[in-house]
Amino acid sequence: MKKKQFKTESKKILDLMINSVYTNREIFLRELVSNASDAIDKLYYKSLTDRKVKLDKSDFKIKLVPNKEERTLSIIDNGIGMTEDELDNNLGIIARSGSSLFKEMNEKKEDISIIGQFGVGFYSAFMVASKIEVISKAYGEKEAFMWSSDGADGYSIEPTEKDECGTIIKLYIKDNTEKENFDEFMDDRRLEGIIKKYSDYIKYPITLDVTEKKDDKEVKEEKTLNSMVPLWKKDEKDVKPEEYNQFYSDKFYDYEEPLKVVRSHVEGQVLFDSLMFIPSHAPYDYYTKEYEKGLQLYSNGVLIMDKCDALLPDYFSFVKGLVDSEDISLNLSRETLQQDRQVNIIGKAIEKKIKSTLEDLLKDDREKYEKFFEAFGMQLKYGIYSTYGMNNEMLQDLLLFYSSKDKKRVTLKEYVDNMKEGQEKIYYASGESLDKVDLLPACEKFKDKGYEILYLVEPVDEFTIQALMNYDNKKFVNVNSEEADDSTEEEKKELEKLNNEAKDMFTLMKDAVKDVKDIKFTNKLKEHPVCLSTEGNISLEMEKVLNQMPTGEKVKADIVLEINKDHPIADKIKDLYKHDKDELQNYTKILYDQARLIEGLSIDDPTELTNLICNYLSK
Ligand code: ADP
Repeated sequence: MKKKQFKTESKKILDLMINSVYTNREIFLRELVSNASDAIDKLYYKSLTDRKVKLDKSDFKIKLVPNKEERTLSIIDNGIGMTEDELDNNLGIIARSGSSLFKEMNEKKEDISIIGQFGVGFYSAFMVASKIEVISKAYGEKEAFMWSSDGADGYSIEPTEKDECGTIIKLYIKDNTEKENFDEFMDDRRLEGIIKKYSDYIKYPITLDVTEKKDDKEVKEEKTLNSMVPLWKKDEKDVKPEEYNQFYSDKFYDYEEPLKVVRSHVEGQVLFDSLMFIPSHAPYDYYTKEYEKGLQLYSNGVLIMDKCDALLPDYFSFVKGLVDSEDISLNLSRETLQQDRQVNIIGKAIEKKIKSTLEDLLKDDREKYEKFFEAFGMQLKYGIYSTYGMNNEMLQDLLLFYSSKDKKRVTLKEYVDNMKEGQEKIYYASGESLDKVDLLPACEKFKDKGYEILYLVEPVDEFTIQALMNYDNKKFVNVNSEEADDSTEEEKKELEKLNNEAKDMFTLMKDAVKDVKDIKFTNKLKEHPVCLSTEGNISLEMEKVLNQMPTGEKVKADIVLEINKDHPIADKIKDLYKHDKDELQNYTKILYDQARLIEGLSIDDPTELTNLICNYLSK
């Protein structure tokens, strides 16, 4: 018989399992039982949707058979079974769950001791078994096959006999060593304990033949070990936090506990239960195209869709969990999903529930909310920006932005509540980092007045603010913009006059700095000599962000170089314009480059700048 080798990735996980020093080995049973339950689900689902398949639900079960003489433990199900090809493909190649774990571990250089905490599937059985046989007959097939492996050097598949469809997983339990005792995995009580702990909510009976004493006689009887009530149907007060956590890591392959568990039972137009989780960190692929959103959809306890995307809006795509409703048709398909009335009603209710949960979290546990926002805030902001403000109502009060006050994150409501008397607008400044924004010359004047300024330092921030336009009837205004100028009419006239008089000088100066759309004197600066502003909708930060996007056309902000009219440099350039026009060109270059540096922008020709400055230094 030919031995086949495991695929490389599978082999790595396998090696981890075989040599595992992980103390929590018992989880192997949870994995095998969960596979058995999935296999029964598949067959049961078939019987509900295909008239030709006639089965009685009450026959379904998962049997545990320990055998101390043989030193084996068998896990037997009467589910859908596997064909020869399926045995080869499913058990020879690492399953999706395992491979995503592997990627995440590699990415994070995570300690492998986390491995036992969540689904690693079939391979985990090698933590307790030196050899495994899988005898399986697929539904509707005549032949049965046996897959066997002792781990290290591959596996083989051969024909065998089996009456009914389903699968037997036979584990040859490892011998005890000086330090380790494996006998426990053939002990009735221990097995019962493990099932109760991890698999109580499995909806098919998990049975064990036990010997009970009755009237002094020993009788063998079949005992059902699990309560079979799904977690989401249990009374909330009867479920321990650990059970939710276990369920979450089990089903959604996350090694960190969820940040928040959200449950609801709704009896409205549609009857449904939901159990949802807000993860405490973004999955490694969250901000990529590969990430698939969606909730599991059950019809009265039967899983009919794994990731039903119609149940979650994009801006809440981070939510994991499930919905169970008897009002959902078993024949629901991806194609008819979007038009399904029930699904839409449930989706709306779910959306509201998530929103109110997040609002409560923000109110009651700021620290946790900030952690949530760190992971998924960008998605909420993107939700506003990508729909051109259509979701403002839904999302605006969930947003946090950094602000000049303590450089911490604030909500828009907190900002407005903190506005000074006479302040009518919400001011913001954008840049690369908090420190850089804090130093922007244009912020100075507002800080002097005691105004708070929103510091937009995340790439999506400014786009979000532009889509919001206003909050609580207050307009968002960039500190750099024309609109932020709150000088008197008289002062404005005076400045205009000054700029008109210097028109020819500025035209000449613009020759030296081709990037710049305009140059003018300003009264918005206090101590600083220069700053940059922009005309139109694209700010310097937005230009930077947009140009970093892989596709998109290159955009250009219309840059204005502003010079403090009260700074000595203003008189100096006027003087140069009269007496030394060449020198004025050099000055202009330096002033512009300085303004760029203050904004956190790169300069086109650093060598030229350095040489110019050194010329003046050596004079
Ligand atoms: P996962 O369950 O995460 O997909 P596993 O390694 O546990 O990964 O299992 C791999 C695949 O093998 C399963 O997806 C399933 O198709 C198949 N399988 C495992 N156990 C059984 C079983 N008892 N009956 C039918 N198919 C099974």
